[in-house]
Amino acid sequence: MYDVKKIRKDFPILQREVNGKPLVYLDNAATSQTPQQVIDVIVDYYQNYNANIHRGVHALSQEATDKYEQARQKIQKHFNAAKSREIIFTSGTTHSINIVSNGFASLIKKGDEILVSAMEHHSNIVPWQMLCERTDATLRVIPMNQEGELLMDVYDNLLSDKTKLVFCNHISNALGTINPIEEIITKAHSVGAAVLIDGAQAAPHLIADVQKLDVDFYTISAHKICGPTGVGMLYGKEEWLGKLPPYHGGGEMIAEVTFEKTTYADLPHKFEAGTPNICGGIAFGAALDYMNSIGFDSIAAYEHELLSYATKELLKIEGLKIYGTAKNKTSVISFNIKGLHPYDIGSILDKLGIAVRTGHHCAQPIMDFYKIPGTVRASFSFYNTLQEVDVLVAGVKRAKAMLT
Ligand SMILES: *Cc1c(COP(=O)(O)O)cnc(C)c1O
Repeated sequence: MYDVKKIRKDFPILQREVNGKPLVYLDNAATSQTPQQVIDVIVDYYQNYNANIHRGVHALSQEATDKYEQARQKIQKHFNAAKSREIIFTSGTTHSINIVSNGFASLIKKGDEILVSAMEHHSNIVPWQMLCERTDATLRVIPMNQEGELLMDVYDNLLSDKTKLVFCNHISNALGTINPIEEIITKAHSVGAAVLIDGAQAAPHLIADVQKLDVDFYTISAHKICGPTGVGMLYGKEEWLGKLPPYHGGGEMIAEVTFEKTTYADLPHKFEAGTPNICGGIAFGAALDYMNSIGFDSIAAYEHELLSYATKELLKIEGLKIYGTAKNKTSVISFNIKGLHPYDIGSILDKLGIAVRTGHHCAQPIMDFYKIPGTVRASFSFYNTLQEVDVLVAGVKRAKAMLT
């Protein structure tokens, strides 16, 4: 039995009030809340074994190094990577993508093409634009339909021997669409292109098996899976990570340094210059442990129930339109009410203790596609409840009444 009451006890923040009302936190696609089990790991690190890793011979340094490397192995196991050196600790998805886009500058030339989906987060558009400016490569967009699904037949036509790289998010943060990444990857490989999948929005809802997917690069941020901010992962196949040059220069990433020449350290250290977010990395591992203790099958089934109920109840409100109605989607609902600005709705919901996101969700091209300034986005997590859906629906009705 899925016991959401028990799960909620793990999250101290969910007990607080906002504007005199119990907090209803529905901004999980922006960042997730942190359970006590992960908070304890963070406190334990600073109370008991805070030290720099890899460098010291002393006991604390050894302890910190061991815990950090154990976290890397947990992440490897979770995503079923073949080797732990294929897991690079980064500051998050944005950093992970920049390592790849920067590295590809040396592998791409004028006339080459990069394909990107129409429903990308800005962090998955801007680095590629920068890469294309530097290399004179061309950026092409895989379009989507009104439901928020990629047009796969257009994708087929865009692919050619000029295509060097395809990137796409696994799940759209603005629409909740689960993209058919297996098909995207297989087809890209058939023309010899590499694929980077942004898994930031997928990681809270499902487990990606990077070997089964045969994906070349996969990225996530720990703060969306109950971990801390400022830490994330870049998975890359060893052959690809070997080809990419390092991103940052500094300590930890070198084998030998003289003023004439520096040789780089082996993976994963080649991409991990400087002192990393040691505590964050360890807490990232703890966050995966926590989510696995609940179980991703249970999480997916429960969130699906929340999504169906919330969709059904919200659509009863006259004038409310949901953006992102793909058959295959996760628990994100982006909506507007006819004639009302999303910001005004969000502000009233906030007064009622309900946290939603309003705006373009770092995905302006999607808003341009629908010709809207933004949406109200309610994104549900495994610790939200059906009662909270009722509070949201009542809040939206109240906002509508106040604003019209
Ligand atoms: C959150 C998110 C990002 C950016 O993650 P950061 O942690 O801010 O680097 C990128 N892509 C998607 C789909 C996201 O949801």
